[in-house]
Amino acid sequence: MLYNQFSGYKYFLYLVQIKIIMSNNRILMIYTGGTIGMYKDLETGVLVPFDFTQLLNRIPELQLIDKEIDTISFEQPIDSSNVRPYHWVQLAEIIEQHYDNYDGFVILHGSDTMAYTASALSFMLENLSKPVIFTGSQLPIGDLRTDAKENIITSIQIAGSYEGDRPVVPEVGIYFEFKLLRGNRTLKASSEHFNAFDSPNYLPLAQSGVDLKFFKNRILPVPDGIFNAHTGLEENIVVVKLHPAITESYLSHIINLPEIKAIILETYGSGNAPVAGWFLDLIREAIENKSIHIINITQCQKGRIVPDKYETGRKLMAIGVYNGKDLTTEAALTKMMYLLSKKLSRKGIKSAFERPLRGEMS
Ligand code: ASP
Repeated sequence: MLYNQFSGYKYFLYLVQIKIIMSNNRILMIYTGGTIGMYKDLETGVLVPFDFTQLLNRIPELQLIDKEIDTISFEQPIDSSNVRPYHWVQLAEIIEQHYDNYDGFVILHGSDTMAYTASALSFMLENLSKPVIFTGSQLPIGDLRTDAKENIITSIQIAGSYEGDRPVVPEVGIYFEFKLLRGNRTLKASSEHFNAFDSPNYLPLAQSGVDLKFFKNRILPVPDGIFNAHTGLEENIVVVKLHPAITESYLSHIINLPEIKAIILETYGSGNAPVAGWFLDLIREAIENKSIHIINITQCQKGRIVPDKYETGRKLMAIGVYNGKDLTTEAALTKMMYLLSKKLSRKGIKSAFERPLRGEMS
């Protein structure tokens, strides 16, 4: 058992080696919690996380994988609804600490906030040139009909897929129910189907059937720079979803919060918002008097911002709102958290925000 201290947050690392074979392929599996490792508490009947070592005992099939798999667990596995940005920092630091020793990383994570964590990690892991594959399950590993085993086994295979010394997937992905998706393109689309994740604006990176098929033209190239885990994150960002009953008082309270740095504005359709004077005046005031960064993304799952299509979209953009193009809410939020911690100029933040950094927008 190792004792580690990350960012002032203490926890234990359990290193459990479950298989050692004569191979250079080493995968690090990081267990954070989620349904995958939960059991039903007999008293309350609700699902609660259990010890990771028990989870591994439930997948004897892992013995068949021609890889050395080490595991690290959060001391207290969590339901992913409890994830906070410091958990993202912990994950980034664990990967950084073990980066040179492993060919790839598999992160077991609850599905509820997996798209947020995968998006955040995609930005924080700068110049990533190894696979970081998130997975989880809709049914616990002990359930007869569990989807956990296939998800874990194929994720390990993806994380260990190399052509010579080049990884096939040098990026952050989510593998769930036979599909590998780019992490920062995903959203949780179903709370009841095994097929829980969707990537509405970008096609899957791989499909698992009889063969594991990679679509290489959709996968990011290996970056040139040196890997670095960026662990600063600005947290004072709010997400505001427009709706027809939104009021001046509600929006005014938000822009007058003293600590607020950015607003992710989920607008209608291709980026449209009301042209009412009070609405545009408040947005203008937020940008000009309070230096708040405002991002326009669409509340539609599929599609993008087309600023000049309607007057209702053009007026908003003319005030100085940034174009979030086809970003998911999860990617827009975490990209802003990342960029605002870089202490760039306002112009630099806008320019970095509006271009793809990790394949998150097109
Ligand atoms: N509530 C669980 C979580 O996100 C659901 C899941 O694991 O799929 O941790």
